Amino acid sequence: MSSERYSLFSLLRESLRGHTGWKPAWRKASPQAAYDIVIVGGGGHGLATAYYLAQRYGIRRVAVLEKGWIGNGNIGRNTTIVRSNYLLPGNTPFYECSMKLWEGLEQDINYNAMVSQRGVLNLFHNDAQRNAYIRRGNAMRLHDIDAELLDASAVRAKLPFLNFDDARFPIQGGLLQRRGGTVRHDAVAWGYARAADKLGVDIIENCEVTGITITNGRVTGVETSRGPIAASKVGLACAGNSSRVAAMAGLRLPIESHVLQAFVTEGLKPFIDCVTTFGAGHFYISQSDKGGLVFGGDIDGYNSYAQRGNMPVVEDVVEGGMALMPRIGRARLLRQWGGLMDMSMDGSPIIDRTPVDQLYLNAGWCYGGFKATPASGLCFAHLLARDEPHEVATAYRLDRFGRGAVIDEKGMGAQPNLH
Ligand SMILES: Cc1cc2nc3c(=O)[nH]c(=O)nc-3n(C[C@H](O)[C@H](O)[C@H](O)COP(=O)(O)OP(=O)(O)OC[C@H]3O[C@@H](n4cnc5c(N)ncnc54)[C@H](O)[C@@H]3O)c2cc1C
Repeated sequence: MSSERYSLFSLLRESLRGHTGWKPAWRKASPQAAYDIVIVGGGGHGLATAYYLAQRYGIRRVAVLEKGWIGNGNIGRNTTIVRSNYLLPGNTPFYECSMKLWEGLEQDINYNAMVSQRGVLNLFHNDAQRNAYIRRGNAMRLHDIDAELLDASAVRAKLPFLNFDDARFPIQGGLLQRRGGTVRHDAVAWGYARAADKLGVDIIENCEVTGITITNGRVTGVETSRGPIAASKVGLACAGNSSRVAAMAGLRLPIESHVLQAFVTEGLKPFIDCVTTFGAGHFYISQSDKGGLVFGGDIDGYNSYAQRGNMPVVEDVVEGGMALMPRIGRARLLRQWGGLMDMSMDGSPIIDRTPVDQLYLNAGWCYGGFKATPASGLCFAHLLARDEPHEVATAYRLDRFGRGAVIDEKGMGAQPNLH
């Protein structure tokens, strides 16, 4: 375990030594025979869960099993946006809890995650959309969450390069959450991994879970590519592979996996100072600290477990970009990639026990799970430690689909590819 603390002093010391003294951020742990809790999936949610289990609940005999390397999943593939601008009561307290955890995260885990509260602006283009955003903004303010409605001239003053003059869908204004913004995604994975490791958690990479061992209806461990591991409790945090891993325990989840793509251009001088979403098509954009335009849009509309997308969505995303800000047509695209989304039937997540004793599920994050990482980790840790839901995650039950208590933030119905 590394006890090294990052600070201005350690940075100065290492710069004088030619940066030869930095230690690996976490150990390359090998699997032990047994743990109190095994987390399957070393993405943001699995790592955050392990960290809060150790830090808040004092449970340190914990292993995180990752089939690849830390950061290979969606935690290293997302577009880094964080916000808490939700409408429905099931979601609002949870995402605001996450936002508050983001605000203190870097101090908490002693890691620079580049938390940047540059604002998230959702544009609207017609009266019905404006009414919906007013309603959402009011709901946020009732929960003490910041929300501001901007008219077209305020949006123009902030983002003068958007297409205001001959747009097919004229911009009428936008809903701004100033506390929203971006956080460097892979730093979140590395930071949680390092902090959990420091508290004694084993982070075991290249360890694929191939089976879940159940004895008399109760989980007793997992089979892995590195041998069997016994565990009193097993938590699944496998994002786009949730249904495949849950099937190992005989469970069929209300989840479909789809691909979501993202795009980055060459570095440009800073000109977009907030995250901006187009309201008349699937397109959103921000600018990274290196200057690249980071943007994306809709999911690929077919089910897949492949971490790569297809051309029709590329075309749809760039059409949205050109409609909103034609100058993007002059930028050169450097990179494009895809990640696997666990799309639930109502677009909201699941943090709950499963019908199998001592098997717990964290899934259904769709394309919004990055912003949820800290609260998801905290709430899953709470559930694993106490066997009861955390107070901000009481709505995220697995049986809500059977009870008709869905949390359909977008109002799309049981259409996972539309959430
Ligand atoms: C292009 C794109 C853009 C996105 N943009 C945003 C955004 O701006 N804001 C936002 O809030 N969200 C965004 N998301 C969604 C967000 O990234 C995900 O919802 C979230 O990261 C999922 O949680 P995770 O980090 O734990 O997932 P992952 O990092 O995918 O972790 C799951 C891990 O489980 C591992 N695993 C799977 N099966 C096994 C097994 N059998 N054994 C062991 N390990 C296994 C995988 O290898 C993986 O590392 C985006 C996603 C993508 C792809």
